[in-house]
Amino acid sequence: MVKSVEIAVIGAGVIGLAIAHRLAHAGHEVALIDPAPPGSGASYGNAGTIADYAVQPVGTPDVLRNLPALLFDRSSPLSIRHAALPSLAPWLLRFARQSLPAAARANAQAIAGLMAGALQGWNELAAEIGGADLMRRRGCMYLYETSAGFKAAQADMAFRRSLGVSVDMLTSAELAQMEPGLPDCAGGAAYFPKAVFFTDPGVMVQRLALAAQAAGARVIPARVDGLRRVQGRVHLTGAGLDLTARRVVIAAGAHSRALARAAGDRVPLDTERGYHVEWDMETPRLTRPCCPTARGFYFCPMAGRLRVAGTVELGGLTAPPSRHRIEKLIEGARAFFPDLGAPDRDWMGFRPSMPDSLPVIGPSRGGAEVIHAYGHGHVGLTLAPVTARMVADLVAGHAPGPEMQPCLPTRF
Ligand SMILES: Cc1cc2nc3c(=O)[nH]c(=O)nc-3n(C[C@H](O)[C@H](O)[C@H](O)COP(=O)(O)OP(=O)(O)OC[C@H]3O[C@@H](n4cnc5c(N)ncnc54)[C@H](O)[C@@H]3O)c2cc1C
Repeated sequence: MVKSVEIAVIGAGVIGLAIAHRLAHAGHEVALIDPAPPGSGASYGNAGTIADYAVQPVGTPDVLRNLPALLFDRSSPLSIRHAALPSLAPWLLRFARQSLPAAARANAQAIAGLMAGALQGWNELAAEIGGADLMRRRGCMYLYETSAGFKAAQADMAFRRSLGVSVDMLTSAELAQMEPGLPDCAGGAAYFPKAVFFTDPGVMVQRLALAAQAAGARVIPARVDGLRRVQGRVHLTGAGLDLTARRVVIAAGAHSRALARAAGDRVPLDTERGYHVEWDMETPRLTRPCCPTARGFYFCPMAGRLRVAGTVELGGLTAPPSRHRIEKLIEGARAFFPDLGAPDRDWMGFRPSMPDSLPVIGPSRGGAEVIHAYGHGHVGLTLAPVTARMVADLVAGHAPGPEMQPCLPTRF
């Protein structure tokens, strides 16, 4: 067992892997610690979109207005497990504050600042790890089932344009031409032409894990339970783990809050549980990810299957998956494709979610030997290379730049 290392990265999801890959490439000695196989958490089951257009935070004035209805309707795309309400109350209060107009606008601007390098970051990373064949450059779509929904989206899309997002509004006839496999969608669509999607995010993350190891990162299959600063180094402990590191990067996704606390930082991290169901099929009906926005999920054409992924359930890290949420996804998918039978598999994962929809990236308040890199919510796959670059800059001794300022762990 390794006793000492230069940099320990806690968590081998897409964020930890991208960081480990980048740091190992730059010549650092890196250990990647995770009790689970690399890339088997949220980074496996997502919708696979490199969503440069997803600049809106989850909390907006619209969401705030509808929050009571959303939260207490079991069938809405954003739901809450009532048993989790007491423990979630502080997070919900912060979320409500971040949903007010000025805060929501500032959060969107900060997210857009991070998104600016996302596509380029993935182009470079995929080329380095041999993942370019998994990328499809066909854009993504938001679908509107009614003309009222399409009309209501205009202001949102104008705001996104003002933040640099490319978006074309399509009539239902134009949509039918681009996605002939979809049934008639009366409202039309918003088409984001620059977005990219992965035909298999799980395989992409596996290739990233192999490339990180090929660059010299060593994987340690253990859970970090203790984190303590000792004489300028950081001591990590857990079952079968006793390691000191000159630097530690916390990248344990939704499970990072206790580790952050041990490092001296209180962060209001919680989780938005998300689900997917999959139907195996050779040609998955669509040619790009399409999200009927009112239903809160994506139809994702993936290798050999149609994945239907999304919905938000505020429900903590320990409760079992909700059968009701899975049934709602199946029902929503059948509203478009009534012939779909029983799905071949289902899955639940934990988005690491902050009330302001901004990740936590930056040095610990207790000292720069601990660096935070988690809390990417709905866009962690998209932002992995950007986050890795920001963490590598910190390791190289640079001060946090303007794009990192809104993400600092000291913002609370
Ligand atoms: C349904 C759904 C759809 C999504 N769609 C998209 C999308 O289309 N585009 C996009 O950009 N994002 C999407 N996301 C979000 C994205 O998947 C996440 O933001 C991202 O995967 C988070 O990566 P991560 O590395 O932080 O966390 P994870 O992938 O969850 O990895 C965290 C790792 O830390 C490990 N860990 C936890 N505790 C410890 C510990 N104490 N010691 C050591 N290791 C530990 C875990 O075992 C895990 O492997 C989606 C998410 C969901 C749920």
